Amino acid sequence: MNEFEFINSIKQQYYRQSTLIKGIGDDGAIISGSSDRLVVVTDTMVENVHFSLKYMTYSDVGYRVMAANLSDLAAMGCKPQFYLLNIVAPKNTQNSSIIEIVNGTKELANRYNMDLIGGDTVEGEHLVITVTAIGSQKHGLKRLRSDALEDDVVFCTGYLGKSAYGLELIKNNQIDKTSEFIQSHIRPNPRCDFVKITSNIKRICLNDISDGIASELYEIAEASDVDIEIDWDELPINHQMKQLNQHQLMEYVLYSGEDFELVGTCSAVDWIQIEKICLNNNINISKIGKVRRKKDAKPNVTININEKLQTLERKGFRHGSLD
Ligand code: ADP
Ligand code: MG
Repeated sequence: MNEFEFINSIKQQYYRQSTLIKGIGDDGAIISGSSDRLVVVTDTMVENVHFSLKYMTYSDVGYRVMAANLSDLAAMGCKPQFYLLNIVAPKNTQNSSIIEIVNGTKELANRYNMDLIGGDTVEGEHLVITVTAIGSQKHGLKRLRSDALEDDVVFCTGYLGKSAYGLELIKNNQIDKTSEFIQSHIRPNPRCDFVKITSNIKRICLNDISDGIASELYEIAEASDVDIEIDWDELPINHQMKQLNQHQLMEYVLYSGEDFELVGTCSAVDWIQIEKICLNNNINISKIGKVRRKKDAKPNVTININEKLQTLERKGFRHGSLD
C-alpha cells in the first residue's frame, strides 16, 4: 500500500462536525470559528512504557490513547469534536497494523461523533502514538482544577483502582479479556457522559484520574488553595477488590492510575442535582469528602481511616515520565 492509498483508507467518507471546512488531504485542516470555546488536549503513549503488544492488540492501543484524550476533554467539561493522530512506527510494522490503530481510535471517535482531521505517520525505533483532540466548552462553564471552594462536596465517578488491578491480573497471566478489571485497563471508558448531563451546572471543579486519586486531589487542593478531607469508607471500591489485603488495596485505590474516572468538587446544592442525574443516567458517583479552608501555608489532603485523620501521601502513578 502506498502513502496515497493509506491516507485514503483512513480518511472518513464524510465529516460529522459542521464547523469543519477542510479535513484530511491538504497541508492542514481548517475549522471555522464557532461561538463556543475550543479546548485542545493531547496525550502520547509509548510501547513498553504505557502499553505492551504482548497483551494488547493494535486496536486496543489506538482505543486507549483516544480514551486518555477523551478523559482530559471530559475533565474540561467539553464535548469532543475533532482529533489528530500521529504515529511513529518501527520499520517492520505492517500497514494493516497501523490501520488497526486508526480503527481503534475510530471506535471511540464514532461513539462521540468526532472527526479525524489529520496527523502524521513516520518511521522510528519504537511505536509511539499521539492523539491531539479538540472539544468545545460552553461559554460561562467553570471546570478548572482551581474552581474548588470551601465547603464543597468532593466526589468521584466509577470505582477506583480497577485498571491497575486489571494490569496486575494480566501480569499474573490471567488473560481472560472479559474480566471487567482487564477491560478497565485495556479499554477504559472515558466519562464524556458525565459532561453531557451536567452541562447546566455552572461550576464543577474537575480533574480526571490518570495518576491516582491522591495525586489528583493534591492538584485540586493546590490549584484552588484549599484543604481536602476524604473518607476511606466512602471511596467506591469494587466488591471483588475488597478481598485484597489492606495495603495492596490502598495502593490500587489511592495511588494507581489510568482509571480515567473523574474526581471533582461542587456546592452542596449542586451535589443533590448531580447525584440525581447520575443515578438516572446509570453513572456511578460517590460523595467521598469535603473541601475545607486551608489551615497551613501549604494545602493539605487528609484521609479519614478508622476515625483517624491522616495525611494522604502525595504520590501517584508514573510510567517513567518526567516529573
Ligand atoms: P504533509 O506531507 O503535507 O504533512 P502527509 O503526506 O504527511 O502531508 O499527510 C497527508 C494528509 O494525511 C494530511 O492531511 C495529514 O494530516 C493526513 N495524515 C497523515 N497521517 C495521518 C494519520 N496517521 N492520521 C490522520 N491523518 C493523517
Ligand atoms: Mg504538507
